[in-house]
Amino acid sequence: MTESPPRAWAEIDLSALRHNLRIARERSGKDVMAVIKGGAYGHGLVEVARALESENLPYLGVANAGEARRLFEAGIATRPYILGATLPAEREEIAARGWTPCLCSFDEIEHFNSLGRNKPIQAHLALDTGMGRGGFLPDQLGAALQKIAAAPGIQLTGIGSHLPVADEDPNFTRQQFELFDTLVEKLPGLPDNFQVHLSNSAGLLDFQSRTANLVRPGLLLYGISPLPCHQDLLTPVMTLKSRVSIVNRLPKGHGVSYGRTLLERDTTTAVLGLGYGDGYPRALSGKNTQVLINGALCPLLGRVTMDQIIVDVTDLPHCQSGDEAELFGPRLLVTDLARKAGTIPWEILTQITPRVTRLYR
Ligand SMILES: *Cc1c(COP(=O)(O)O)cnc(C)c1O
Repeated sequence: MTESPPRAWAEIDLSALRHNLRIARERSGKDVMAVIKGGAYGHGLVEVARALESENLPYLGVANAGEARRLFEAGIATRPYILGATLPAEREEIAARGWTPCLCSFDEIEHFNSLGRNKPIQAHLALDTGMGRGGFLPDQLGAALQKIAAAPGIQLTGIGSHLPVADEDPNFTRQQFELFDTLVEKLPGLPDNFQVHLSNSAGLLDFQSRTANLVRPGLLLYGISPLPCHQDLLTPVMTLKSRVSIVNRLPKGHGVSYGRTLLERDTTTAVLGLGYGDGYPRALSGKNTQVLINGALCPLLGRVTMDQIIVDVTDLPHCQSGDEAELFGPRLLVTDLARKAGTIPWEILTQITPRVTRLYR
């Protein structure tokens, strides 16, 4: 007996991932912390980490101790960096494992200092230059640095900040770079290998810092540009696929899917074995969404259901059960689907569910 193949799968092109990393390096001229939080944006936390292990990256950016632990348990040697403030209950493990936290509060400085009594903890300092999600405000920076200088349990190895509107408001972002650079330039006596970082994907594509020596791209590594004008530099890493389960001929006026969207002509439909239960957004219903079958674009008909969608294949010369369909990928950008669904590509990628088998190439 052979095991049945999956109805929906995501092909993950790891050579595209390495290509995009090369673009991030060339474009920024800086070291790269690969941001792999959110299960590497749905691409598979451990598999992506392993693919990047030979790239000599200083850090892998993760969301929390749980993601860092999965890397540890998989034997990944690259050091996890915890993006964002830590919970008190996470800090003992972070300290014991030598993961790098970014200090966002005086509480964290005190707590990590006591946890690092025997072996100092390497940590970065987070500055809030506009994100409003944690970190010291510019006028608290002096006090934070004093407190860290008086904390033998903490070795400060870097400083970072984050960009809330790098793909929306270039004027604000330019001011943010200027503020960040000015603050960093005033820091006294930094060690040579001190790590300074500000840019996410949009930041590294469009802006240059005078002081940063590290960038933190996420989306860009997966081949999706937050700014459409740079999309051609990148190769999408994930292609979401499914198969035609059945082809039906239905008369004009017949209803299709929940809610009974009425057919406007005699229609040949193909049913695909994937739906919102796989992370294909239900919000794509009725938005002129298309899928690729045998290289041709076919319109989505009616509402997306949990496990199946229906598409119009009337104009295809051939379409039969078993034919492969592409929902997004290099030829059908997840960015365009996101716009139609009223969301962002980050959300669609991270919401592809575990039912979708990831196949690594
Ligand atoms: C998620 C995240 C990034 C990566 O952002 P992209 O827009 O996906 O490149 C960088 N820095 C921080 C602090 C983040 O939370």
